[in-house]
Amino acid sequence: MSLENYKLELENIIASEGIKYNEPMKNHTSFKVGGPADILLLPETPKQIGDAVKLCAKHGVNFYIMGNGSNLIVRDGGYRGVIIKLTSLDNVSADGEYLKAEAGASLSTAAKEALKYSLTGMEFASGIPGTVGGAVTMNAGAYGPEIKDIIEYAILMDMDGNQFKLSKEEMDLSYRSSIVQKNNYIVLEAVFKLEKGDYDEIESRMDELNKRRAEKQPLNYPSAGSTFKRPIGYYAGKLIEDAGLKGMRNGGASISEKHAGFVINKDNATARDVLGLISKVQKIIKEKNAVTLEPEVRIIGEE
Ligand SMILES: Cc1cc2nc3c(=O)[nH]c(=O)nc-3n(C[C@H](O)[C@H](O)[C@H](O)COP(=O)(O)OP(=O)(O)OC[C@H]3O[C@@H](n4cnc5c(N)ncnc54)[C@H](O)[C@@H]3O)c2cc1C
Repeated sequence: MSLENYKLELENIIASEGIKYNEPMKNHTSFKVGGPADILLLPETPKQIGDAVKLCAKHGVNFYIMGNGSNLIVRDGGYRGVIIKLTSLDNVSADGEYLKAEAGASLSTAAKEALKYSLTGMEFASGIPGTVGGAVTMNAGAYGPEIKDIIEYAILMDMDGNQFKLSKEEMDLSYRSSIVQKNNYIVLEAVFKLEKGDYDEIESRMDELNKRRAEKQPLNYPSAGSTFKRPIGYYAGKLIEDAGLKGMRNGGASISEKHAGFVINKDNATARDVLGLISKVQKIIKEKNAVTLEPEVRIIGEE
């Protein structure tokens, strides 16, 4: 890998404002933990993403795609290579019952655009703090529905920079999983099929769901939402609560008192604190309930 040669060529592709060196990832993740990425890129067009990815292949440099970092932990040693953050590609537009959104658009912006045109179906996503790309990759869901229920197709890119389109069926969406994760694709854009509804009803459904979120979730502390996936036949939060682990600490990380399914950054936690707590919880629940808790949150970088 030759990061120095990569850097020289990179500056021909992306304007200097879109290139950050040794960028602390705690500034880009909702957990507020994580060491520096060698390079953080903020491309503004699919072409820039493609060029950056091709350049990575040419110089043997690792890269990782991110959206809003709301389901991501970067370890304290940081990431060797390039993190490509897509939040600058954020156009959203409606056409009849279809809503088209670029990968970096926030779900709340996309849901607001749907509301503007009285389109129903996206209410569930309005309070999830991620981007459209992150939500498609994770098949994000809340209060029943998930991305799988509304997506029509997505425009993707492979690791060689080729663009292609996949239908809902081809995306192999299942509980917090998709072909995007399995094949390391990059989501550039998604098109959702919604339905004409009533503006006031859509708005009050969004308000109701967001109120429920605020009541049940520790939104005043940094976190990545539900830390663990739902194990078949159980709820992670209930298992953790029943094991008496609410409030358990590891350094600055803690199990939320408000919602046991959330590990929170209570007091200047490091990634090590958070990951240590995740491991402790996994061990206790394995011993007590013989259930394996698998993290939902994605973990990258060096110790
Ligand atoms: C308070 C809180 C509440 C939450 N509530 C929910 C909830 O109700 N339901 C739910 O499902 N999730 C929830 N989450 C988790 C998170 O918001 C979702 O998983 C969200 O979809 C992640 O989007 P992101 O843009 O932040 O992705 P990131 O965290 O940046 O990335 C997550 C994963 O997606 C990949 N990725 C991101 N963008 C792309 C792209 N364009 N192309 C390819 N890969 C990509 C990354 O490589 C990574 O593997 C919550 C998180 C928080 C902090």
